[in-house]
Amino acid sequence: MQNAKGLSLVSGGLDSQLAVKVLQRAGAYVEGVCFATPFFSADAARKAAAALDVTLHVIDFTDDEIALVENPPHGFGGAMNPCIDCHATMIRRAGELMDKLGFDFVATGEVMGQRPMSQNKQSLATVEKASGLKGRLVRPLSALLLEPTIPEQEGRLDRSKLLDIHGRSRETQISLAKEFGIVDYPSPAGGCKLTEEGYGRKLKDLLVHEGLGNRRYVELLSTGRRFRLPGGSGLIVGRDRNENAILQNIDAPAILASENCPGPTAVMTSLAAESDLQLAAEIVASYSKFDRLETDVTVKISRPGAAVQKYAVERSLAADRSRLKEWQIC
Ligand code: SF4
Repeated sequence: MQNAKGLSLVSGGLDSQLAVKVLQRAGAYVEGVCFATPFFSADAARKAAAALDVTLHVIDFTDDEIALVENPPHGFGGAMNPCIDCHATMIRRAGELMDKLGFDFVATGEVMGQRPMSQNKQSLATVEKASGLKGRLVRPLSALLLEPTIPEQEGRLDRSKLLDIHGRSRETQISLAKEFGIVDYPSPAGGCKLTEEGYGRKLKDLLVHEGLGNRRYVELLSTGRRFRLPGGSGLIVGRDRNENAILQNIDAPAILASENCPGPTAVMTSLAAESDLQLAAEIVASYSKFDRLETDVTVKISRPGAAVQKYAVERSLAADRSRLKEWQIC
């Protein structure tokens, strides 16, 4: 009988790397699968797969994740992170790849009880059910605490080599890392911007006002200071030269920049009211080097198909940045 072939979710974190090693020790042929979106990158997974010497399949997960942020059937975690549905959908996508490539199972590095909300027995069962992979989802680090899966029942994956890790202590994983020679792994938390409160505020604001249909705006969520102006328009203000360069090339209803002194580039993600342009110009002036001037700050506004407009902003107004807090999201 042939050994089982598994696709293991690799995030780059220690548990996902250990899952690959434990499966290999149990006789499986393993390849990795990871997911990329504007909210988290595949860089750590690529690095881990190279160190583990396994083939890695990278799936663009952006449309799935945006759909879940718009409508998460199991709700959000602490921020805008739809973890239960995200995880189940990733596993479902991995299952589709499993079928396409003729593999036998999908695996994850989940550990029972490690995260009280998302890795207890009930949520592991919920994820298995929602993913549609009943019997074909292996959690090698906690497998002995769960029902045997189909490849284990068939004897194509040696259950006696799988583990019974549970709880939040990392001691067992750290000693296994030494045993397997795994030395490079990021901290367990982090990596997904959807779990960050500030990022979540920006995402929610975009969702409510402009929607998430424009992928470029979603990709820009890590760029610039964000403002929601009184008329409902959205404004992104560059914080450094790199961000200014990115914003200069955005297809947007209006792009602003100071003309007579160095300053940021700003982009309006929507122009809900003409009256917002004046305040947007004042915000750009406030983040410019207005103190180098003896005169007002001139802010030019470029709009597609229209002549460039210019607004003069008094230096005293530009200097009063505290009044802008009211409209600043992050
Ligand atoms: S932390 Fe982010 S990537 Fe991970 S399951 Fe939650 S939403 Fe998905």
